[in-house]
Amino acid sequence: MTIGQTARIERVGGEGALRQHLLDMGVIPGAVARVVKFAPLGDPMEIKIHDYELTLRLADAKQIDVELTEAVDKTKEDIAPRHEHPGLGEGGRFHMKGDGDPLPDDTVLTFALVGNQNSGKTTLFNTLTGSNQHVGNFPGVTVDRKDGPIRGHASTMVTDLPGIYSMSPYSTEEIVSRDFVLKDKPTGIINILDATNIERNLYLTMQLLEMGIPMVVALNMMDEMRENGGTVDINGMEHMLGVPVVPISAANNEGVDELVEHALHVAHYREKPLRQDFCDENDHGGAVHRALHAVSHLIEDHAVRASLPVRFAASKVIEGDERIMEQLALDDNEKDMIEHIVLQMEKERGLDRCAAIADMRFAFIGKVCTSCVRKPKESKERTRSEKIDRILTGKYTAIPAFIGIMGIVCFLTFNVIGAGLQWVLEQCITLLSDAVNNALTYAGANEVLHGLIIDGIFEGVGSVLSFLPVVVCMFFFLSLLEDSGYIARVAFVMDKMLRRIGLSGRSVVPMLIGFGCTVPAVMSTRTLPSERDRRMTILLTPFMSCSAKMPIYAFFVDAFFPRYKALILIGLYVLGIAVGLMIAFIYRKTLFKGEAVPFVMELPNYRMPRTGNVVRLLWEKAKDFLQRAFSVILIATIVIWILKSFDIHFRFLTDSTDSILADISGLLSVVMRPAGLGDWRICTSLISGFMAKESVVSTLEVLFEESIADSMSAITAASLLVFSLLYTPCVAAVAAVKRELGAKWAAGMVVWQCVVAWIAAVIVQLIGKIL
Ligand code: GDP
Ligand code: MG
Repeated sequence: MTIGQTARIERVGGEGALRQHLLDMGVIPGAVARVVKFAPLGDPMEIKIHDYELTLRLADAKQIDVELTEAVDKTKEDIAPRHEHPGLGEGGRFHMKGDGDPLPDDTVLTFALVGNQNSGKTTLFNTLTGSNQHVGNFPGVTVDRKDGPIRGHASTMVTDLPGIYSMSPYSTEEIVSRDFVLKDKPTGIINILDATNIERNLYLTMQLLEMGIPMVVALNMMDEMRENGGTVDINGMEHMLGVPVVPISAANNEGVDELVEHALHVAHYREKPLRQDFCDENDHGGAVHRALHAVSHLIEDHAVRASLPVRFAASKVIEGDERIMEQLALDDNEKDMIEHIVLQMEKERGLDRCAAIADMRFAFIGKVCTSCVRKPKESKERTRSEKIDRILTGKYTAIPAFIGIMGIVCFLTFNVIGAGLQWVLEQCITLLSDAVNNALTYAGANEVLHGLIIDGIFEGVGSVLSFLPVVVCMFFFLSLLEDSGYIARVAFVMDKMLRRIGLSGRSVVPMLIGFGCTVPAVMSTRTLPSERDRRMTILLTPFMSCSAKMPIYAFFVDAFFPRYKALILIGLYVLGIAVGLMIAFIYRKTLFKGEAVPFVMELPNYRMPRTGNVVRLLWEKAKDFLQRAFSVILIATIVIWILKSFDIHFRFLTDSTDSILADISGLLSVVMRPAGLGDWRICTSLISGFMAKESVVSTLEVLFEESIADSMSAITAASLLVFSLLYTPCVAAVAAVKRELGAKWAAGMVVWQCVVAWIAAVIVQLIGKIL
C-alpha cells in the first residue's frame, strides 16, 4: 500500500496476544484504515483507523488482509444531529440517582481510575488528590499504581492505574490494572475517556461495564472537543451506557466536583451499571448474541464461585482467555459444550471468536457514536499534529530533527541556561563558605570541627549542590519533550534501528528517560510487552549517562579540557550510547536470542506542555536532588572526611597518606592501576560514587588538598571520565533493577559494568601512551 490509500480490513492473521491486541486496538475485519506515512527508514508505518493513529511494522501489517476502497466521505459519517452541549460542570445532572442499598456510612470508598493511555488519568488523579504525580504525553508514564484520598473526602481512596486499552492483558502494566479491578474489587470505577478519541476509548468502557462494579464515565478533554466544535449528547450517552457520564476537563479543573459527587454516590449506593448486554440480536443473525448468552448461563455457577463477573467471564471464555478459563475450573464436558457453541458462532458469523467479540463491541460503539457524538470538524490539534509530524517524522527530516533537538537541549543545558545559573549559585556558595570560615576562625573553633565544616561539608556538598541548575535544566527539557508527545515519535522513527540490536522502538523511552535518571527509566520498562525486551532494555539503560554523572563530566571538563567543553560532553554521551549498542549486540548473540516483539503503539496528538505539570515536575526533581545532597552525599562526605583525617590510632592528620582511608583504598588501587586510576583518592571517590554519582566530585574535593587540575594528568582525568561513565550505576538504580529482575541480575549487572568500565579505561590509557 502507498501513502494516502484507504483499505477495508478483510482478515486479521497472526495469533496469540499480539492478535488480540490488534483487535482490541480496533484493527478488526470491516474497519477502514488509511496509510498515513512510513517511518524515515521505511518501517514501521503509521495508519489511521477509527480516527486515531497507530504504528504497525510492515511484517505485522502483512498478516492483515485488506481490500482497497474509496476514501470514506467524512460528511457521511457525521450523521449525528447537533446537540447543544450541556456545558462543563453541569452535564450529567439528569442522571437518576437511586438511594437503595447504601454501604455503611463509615466504609472507605475505593476508586480505581481506569482509562486508555494518555486519556488524562494522572492529571485527574492530581486534581482529585492534590498530589504531584508525573504527567506525560506518552504511553507508559504511569507504570505503577499510586493511591491517595480525594481532597475533602477523607474516607475515600483513589488509585491511579497504568493506562490500558482492554482487559486482555498485553504488557506487565496492563496486568497490574486488570488485576487491581478483578482482585482488589474497588467499590467504584472512574473510567476516564479522551473525548476527542471516543471510539477507541469506549472499547475499554464496555469491558469495564461487564465487571458489574459501580462506575462513572468521565469524558475528559472536553475543552479541546468544545473548541473544535464537537459535542456529545451526554444524556443520550448516559442512557445507552447505563452509568453517569460527566464531561470534564481535568487539566482545567472543570467538572471535577460534579464527577466526584457522582462517583461517591454510585459507590455509596452500590449502583451497578444498568447495562451489561451489548450484543444485538439482529446483528448478523444474532450469532454472537446467542453464543454470549448461552455461555453466560453455562458458566454462571463457576463464575460466582471464582467471584468473577459472569458477563465478563463469558466473553473472555469465548475469546479463549486461558487465565480466566483456569480460574473458572470448568469440567471437560462443559468445555466441550462451550467449544461447540463457539464453533457454531464462528460459522454463523463468518469471523473467528476473538474478531467476532471485538466486532460486537465496536458495532455497539458505532451506535453510541452515531447517535450521541458529533465529532469535531477537523480538530485543530490533529491538523497541527500532522503539520508538525511532516517535519519531525518526515522521511528526510526526522533524524536530523532528532539530532538537532537533542543538540539544542544539550547546548542550552550545558552552555546557556544551566551553566549560567550554576555560576550564580557557585558564587553564592563561595560567599557563604567564606563567611562561615571567617566566623569559625573568629570564634576560635576547634581545628577538627573547622576542617570538617569547611574542607569537608562545604567543599563536598557545595560542589555537588552547584550542579542543581544543570540537572533541573536537563529534566526541564526532557519533560517538555515527553509532555508534548515527541518522545512517542522518536520511538516510531527509531524502531527499525533498534530492531537491528534486537529491540523495538518502545525501548527508546526508558533509554531517553535514562538520561535523566536510571531509576524511573528502569521502572518505565514495565510498558514493554515482552519479558525479553524488558530485561535487555533494563540492562542497557545504565549506559545512558544519567544526570547525576553530569557534575563529574562538567567538573573534569572544566578543569582539564575547557576548550573542547561541548565536544567532550557530547562525546561522552555518545560514547555511552555506542558502548550500550555494542553490549546490546553481545546480549543479542548470547543472553537474549530471538526477535523483538511487534511494535503497535498509538501516537498521541502533540499537546502544549502544561506549565503546572512542568513546574511540578521540576520542583519534585529539585527536591529530590537537594534531599540526596543533604542525606547520602552529606553523610558520605563526612564519613570520608573523617576516614581521611585520622589514622588507625585515631590521631588527627594533616597529611592524609597515612589515613585509614588510604589503607582501605590501597587494596583497590592495585586492581585499578592498569586503568590509570591507582591513586587511592580516586579509588575512594569511585567507591563513594556507588552511593550517589555526584559524590565522586565531592569526595575528590575533600581528598585533594591542592587543586585537582594540578595533581592529576589529563590522561588520568580522561580515564576517570570514561570509567565513571560506564561503571556500576548507583545504589538506588541497582535497587530498582533488583526490584524488576531480581538480585542475581542486579549483582551480575554491577560486576559486568565494572568490568566493561575497567576495560574501557585501560584502552584510554593505552591510547594516551601512544599519543
Ligand atoms: P495518562 O497517561 O492517562 O495518565 O495521561 P496524563 O495525565 O499523563 O495526560 C496526558 C496528556 O493529556 C498530557 O499532556 C496532559 O497535559 C493532557 N491533558 C490531560 N487532561 C487534559 C484536559 O482536560 N484537556 C487538555 N486539553 N489536555 C489534557
Ligand atoms: Mg498517567
